[in-house]
Amino acid sequence: MHMASVGISKFCFLFSVAFCSLLLLLIPALQSPPSQLDLPRPRPRTRLPPAHRTHRARLPTSTASPLRNLETHGPPTRTQLSGRKSPSQLAGSREDLRSSDGRRMGSLMGYRSPDTLELRDIFIAVKTTRKYHESRLQLLLQTWVSRAKEQTFIFTDAEDRELQLRAGVNIINTNCSAAHNRQALCCKMSVEYDKFIESQKKWFCHVDDDNYVVLPSLLRLLSSYHHSQDLYLGRPSLDHPIEAAERIRSDGSVSVKFWFATGGAGFCISRGLALKMSPWASLGNFISTAEKIRLPDDCTIGYIIEALLEVKLTRTHLFHSHLENLRKLPPDSVLGQVTLSYGGLENRRNVLSVVGNISLAEDPTRFKTVHCLLYPDTEWCPSIKA
Ligand code: UDP
Ligand code: MN
Repeated sequence: MHMASVGISKFCFLFSVAFCSLLLLLIPALQSPPSQLDLPRPRPRTRLPPAHRTHRARLPTSTASPLRNLETHGPPTRTQLSGRKSPSQLAGSREDLRSSDGRRMGSLMGYRSPDTLELRDIFIAVKTTRKYHESRLQLLLQTWVSRAKEQTFIFTDAEDRELQLRAGVNIINTNCSAAHNRQALCCKMSVEYDKFIESQKKWFCHVDDDNYVVLPSLLRLLSSYHHSQDLYLGRPSLDHPIEAAERIRSDGSVSVKFWFATGGAGFCISRGLALKMSPWASLGNFISTAEKIRLPDDCTIGYIIEALLEVKLTRTHLFHSHLENLRKLPPDSVLGQVTLSYGGLENRRNVLSVVGNISLAEDPTRFKTVHCLLYPDTEWCPSIKA
């Protein structure tokens, strides 16, 4: 009897140990999969930004541009090429452009969440130089900049009082050199950064003076994120990360690899992330950071964000530079893109295929055509007659 009860206790003890071990083994399997907190995700959409009254942009039937291989680039100041994108890497898909019933209800009832992004919350920096004030800048002022005067800041390298008075836009003389070299371009970027921080706006977007910004698309894209998230949005110009020799001390360097968004297609940075960049970007520090890796302005932005802050570039296929074949963009997707461009001297025929009422001779860049499709009420746009 005594022996039997010892046997039963022993069995109960062993059974409990085996049961507990089994439970311990099962705990990880029962837990939910790890969340990807490090990857920026579009925030839950709260409302759709009101579209411009006359905005008749057709949403792209397919916003994915064809995969492009390495593209060649001209001047030495920018590393260029297009990135390979997998659908999961693409930001700003058509999903981002959709509204929800909740948001529509809010706007119908006149309710405006304090989080609603408006165009005036976006700081758009345009980099230019004296020699392009007439040729390139004039076209931008006539087109998209005219619809975003308050939030567009033109960074140049010379005084142009006449332009300032005529255009009524923010023109900032950076006093940087007018040369097209790394130091001069980084000097301009440094001033752009400081002005953005000063502005208190929610997003910093940089474009070149040969970019058209489709403002409704930009607003839609940024509205799907929050400015307090760490967001670096753009198009990689290479199909592999760039490798730089990072000068640690005067006597040595280490190799560092990172992705960067090509400046020629434009890129955007959330305020939350921009503030974190401050030690390497503010008050002239951007220039010394660029010197450490001896790379141009757009690469230096990528270096600070990806290599130093360890925040990943969020790729978007909605930004375009003239390093890609712009003619291949489906015409019905053009107005749904965020930035557009046109071929420079090296390839004047690399322009968008858009159908409108303005001839190629009158509008060789196609920016006027795009603008009239977006804003047909513009006084200089040809009237649409059947
Ligand atoms: N740029 C500049 N200084 C110069 C030449 C160009 O600030 O001496 C600017 C130009 O206004 C544009 C950008 O640099 O915003 C890129 O210039 P570009 O389009 O001529 O060259 P790419 O796109 O081939 O790099
Ligand atoms: Mn260019």
